[in-house]
Amino acid sequence: MTSERVVIVGGAIMGSFAAWSLRQQGFAGSITVVEKDPSYRLCSTALSAASIRTQFGTPINVQLSLYGVDFFRNITRHFGTGADIAYKENGYLILGGPDTVAARQAGVAMQRAEGADIIALSPDELTQRFPKMRFEGVGIGTFGQTGDGWFDAWSLLALVRRAARALGVSYVDAEASGLRIAGGQVIGVMLASGDVLPCDWCVNAAGPASAKLVKAIGIDLPVTPRKRTVFSFRAPISPNGFPMLFDTSGIWVRPEGTGFIGGIQPPADQDPDATGDFEPHHHLMQDPFWSLLAARIPAMETLRLERAWAGHYEVNALDHNGILGPHDLLQNLIFSTGFSGHGVMHAPAAGRAVAEWITGGGFKTLDVSALGWNRIRDKQPMPETVVY
Ligand SMILES: Cc1cc2nc3c(=O)[nH]c(=O)nc-3n(C[C@H](O)[C@H](O)[C@H](O)COP(=O)(O)OP(=O)(O)OC[C@H]3O[C@@H](n4cnc5c(N)ncnc54)[C@H](O)[C@@H]3O)c2cc1C
Repeated sequence: MTSERVVIVGGAIMGSFAAWSLRQQGFAGSITVVEKDPSYRLCSTALSAASIRTQFGTPINVQLSLYGVDFFRNITRHFGTGADIAYKENGYLILGGPDTVAARQAGVAMQRAEGADIIALSPDELTQRFPKMRFEGVGIGTFGQTGDGWFDAWSLLALVRRAARALGVSYVDAEASGLRIAGGQVIGVMLASGDVLPCDWCVNAAGPASAKLVKAIGIDLPVTPRKRTVFSFRAPISPNGFPMLFDTSGIWVRPEGTGFIGGIQPPADQDPDATGDFEPHHHLMQDPFWSLLAARIPAMETLRLERAWAGHYEVNALDHNGILGPHDLLQNLIFSTGFSGHGVMHAPAAGRAVAEWITGGGFKTLDVSALGWNRIRDKQPMPETVVY
């Protein structure tokens, strides 16, 4: 219907993929994206580690990633000749202790059955394949041979925004202050200026701020901003051939340009709601990050920190999984939020799901209802074991 109006709150990766995908699905009505910070400087997308993995504990997340892999490999097909997100499939290596071997092998079997190219490696095989690393305390490593890797999230965001604009999506520089409800529907998005944008559909893609948007209408979205720091450094070792490594200790590290980036989550009791706080966790660098890193990769005993930044994970406290699809009562309110650290890789599939729902009233290509609102309402987590 050409008279239908979609208003999307949040213009970063989730909002822009929803907008662009709507046009791909043939939506001919108006699409307005409301974005409070057109510089996108502090959004999670811009500050992320921009990596993609097909190693998840639930089939639905593996499927979302596989679509992301296909999308990134074929970026020029979607966004035209010259589109480049510097996608590198150098693999994800996820290490586990001896007590995790059986569970991790079962995980690999599931991932392979879903179509992901993952193998399990013993400590001896790990030593042969990754001679610059030490594997004390490791019982298994799982490795994404193809598909898993990293890319440039900023370029991806720029491409999808530009493509959406070219298809008639309008971006409005404004802050949404709340939603106007009547007759069991969202009928408008209220702006801080006092204006109201009338809508037939509203998509909440406000990332770490998505709970704030719906709080006043009585929806308790368990999504909060949690600060995660990225350290960017150089080491006396070539990054060529290095995978993205997730260690048993909780550290992660991967090549970035001619150096590396890495990080570690803060302890749970030092991980409050970080609204407005973008100061990096400098104290985590020396210890534990660096000491754990050097224990795993001895050449990183000496390194030079170049810079650090912090961004916000949009953590879904219920189960660290995305919240995707309609609200049960306000059925024209669609969520695309709460991806808790894996939202950039899942954005192409999430945008497609939102667009399918709005244009056809259901999920066509991939049934993502396991990620729906009802589990949040019922406080029934969908456990995902592979989260960082
Ligand atoms: C350090 C770090 C590392 C990460 N690493 C990875 C990774 O390797 N791979 C991966 O896939 N994901 C990763 N993530 C997670 C990923 O960045 C997020 O899941 C994803 O970016 C979420 O996208 P989003 O569009 O929902 O949120 P955002 O990118 O935060 O965008 C939300 C947008 O909404 C706008 N907004 C909010 N409220 C309002 C309002 N009321 N009115 C108008 N506009 C509003 C904001 O300004 C913002 O632009 C990482 C995140 C961090 C912080």
